[in-house]
Amino acid sequence: RAIVRDLDMLEEGNPGFKPLPPNLVDPTIFEKRFLKKIRELGEGHFGKVELCRYDPRGDKTGELVAVKSLKPETREEQGNNLSTEIDILKALYHDNIVKYKGICLDETGQAVKLIMEYLPLGSLKEHLPKYKSKTSLGTLLSYATQICMGMDYLGSKNYIHRDLAARNVLLENERTVKIGDFGLTKSIKDNDGYYVVKDENESPVFWYAPECLTHCKFYRSSDVWSFGVTMYELITYCDSSKSPMNLFLNIIGPTQGQMTVVRLVNALKEGKRLPRPENCPESVYELMRRCWEQSPEKRITFKSLIQELTGMQG
Ligand code: ADP
Ligand code: MG
Repeated sequence: RAIVRDLDMLEEGNPGFKPLPPNLVDPTIFEKRFLKKIRELGEGHFGKVELCRYDPRGDKTGELVAVKSLKPETREEQGNNLSTEIDILKALYHDNIVKYKGICLDETGQAVKLIMEYLPLGSLKEHLPKYKSKTSLGTLLSYATQICMGMDYLGSKNYIHRDLAARNVLLENERTVKIGDFGLTKSIKDNDGYYVVKDENESPVFWYAPECLTHCKFYRSSDVWSFGVTMYELITYCDSSKSPMNLFLNIIGPTQGQMTVVRLVNALKEGKRLPRPENCPESVYELMRRCWEQSPEKRITFKSLIQELTGMQG
């Protein structure tokens, strides 16, 4: 302790005494003035993502990056949401998870933008309807396997995603997909294996398991349920006329507001599920159904899903 105090005094009395050279640049801090917007990439409930060139030399040789910020109208209440998303993404390293690059700070030193790698093909929701004829069932099953590998890794880090859907899975190229959008991701480290939602902003109800809708409880296996719905989206090539929302509304009849969730919960309790899409092999539909077991502990795990899906691709 005495030595530490001596060192502190030495430092105070001698400002030049610093262990690190002062000109070391942090490559994860992006300066706002060098970020040149090219176009909008998309937006969801809370955020907006733009394609930018980070061009400190100003000669268009800089790299392309995806830049996420919160929408102005939700910024107030969601103030910390982006920082949570940044902290989570920063700690994740996996081939099937979008890569963190850094942040952009405002005048007060608060992180206002999340900088990620740019994935040129966009989300499955945008890509699949356009490339239907070029995408075989084998490719779809490979995407599904990769999503499970990313999700299994996420679970091993004690996180639940809570917003797994085709709109939040991005393509790096025709062979590789990555999970993006960790805006609703929660840590379950300090809980008993589940997370309880405090404020129900806008929840993607048609992707949610029964326990999420009735008790606001999220387990790892609740993500498995959402994966089943995502796999359903893949098999239908994200055709919006067959979207989970449209099909569930077919099942429960047209409703509004709170009644939608009540009727959905009842339909699920009665065992009603999304139907098997026309082009979907029985064995693949069987896997979806194992994701949609009513009780969370009966559902298949991401590890078993990886095994089963790998087997199907022979
Ligand atoms: P939100 O939290 O608002 O839903 P997302 O992170 O899901 O925001 O991004 C919204 C949309 O922006 C995505 O559905 C996708 O189309 C596009 N997008 C997001 N990240 C990237 C990226 N790294 N590369 C390319 N497109 C992206
Ligand atoms: Mg999203």
